[in-house]
Amino acid sequence: MYISIQKNIYCENCRICGARPVIEQLPKAKFKLVCPNDKDHFKLTSAFIDDSIKAWNKLNETPVGLRNVG
Ligand SMILES: [Zn+2]
Repeated sequence: MYISIQKNIYCENCRICGARPVIEQLPKAKFKLVCPNDKDHFKLTSAFIDDSIKAWNKLNETPVGLRNVG
């Protein structure tokens, strides 16, 4: 089951395809952050979704020069 990330949560788009990641709920109250287009792009598993989003943002950070300001 996939859960979309709330719009008010800051989250980078996938560096490879530009998609906003989704949360996959796993057994034992674990969460996986995945790219909705291709699970092989990125997948981060953590007991805390906040940690996954932080790690995802680090991995998919837009180079400063390409960042859309405003
Ligand atoms: Zn992707």
